[in-house]
Amino acid sequence: MRLEKYIKIDSRKYLLLVFLVLLSTELLSCKKGQSFKFGGQDLFAFGAQDSCHFNRNSMGIRISWKASLPVNLLIHKSVPAIYDKDIIAAANLWNTAKGKTLINVTRDDTFTNGVTNDGHNVIFWSTDWDASNSKEQALTSTNTDLSRITDADIRINAKNFGYSTTAQSTSSSTVNLESLILHEMGHVLGLQHFDGDGVMSAYLPNGKIRLNLSSDELSELSCEY
Ligand SMILES: [Zn+2]
Repeated sequence: MRLEKYIKIDSRKYLLLVFLVLLSTELLSCKKGQSFKFGGQDLFAFGAQDSCHFNRNSMGIRISWKASLPVNLLIHKSVPAIYDKDIIAAANLWNTAKGKTLINVTRDDTFTNGVTNDGHNVIFWSTDWDASNSKEQALTSTNTDLSRITDADIRINAKNFGYSTTAQSTSSSTVNLESLILHEMGHVLGLQHFDGDGVMSAYLPNGKIRLNLSSDELSELSCEY
């Protein structure tokens, strides 16, 4: 009996100690806003975190892939293979800018799921675009679990827009696909739009090649990656 009681008290103290150690180390290590991380996720924010241009959940915690990197992005068979090189190049621009692999791109012509929350991150070429969104060049949808993105899909509007590769040079009648994908990959990573002339500016004119991340975009990205 005495031993049992002793163990009970001791384990409580031990758990409290572990909690305090975790709390203090995590408070010191987080960037731009204080939070308590556990299992790779932010569980509590002490005061809302700065958004850093990321979406935030109802507790004010930034939503991103956290430590679940790289994001494996599949090119669906609907995407013309002529664009593979530019899609991979767009991922490499994010990776090079951060000095680590954030996004890994592969083509998978055997993949048959549609745009759904299946844990597979896929780029689709959509020829049956909803008329109410006809001015959107692309849409990125994400699903989240607490503060972590668990699924992301990019749909490219191939009904209302024509596209060109970067090697094909600019044309006022087509959208530069590498610039568009670079922007959508920013949304995949969890970034919102930025004002200015970086890659996360909301509007991409036809013919414009826009492949330079702004210093603001890079520094805000560092809040999470
Ligand atoms: Zn956008």
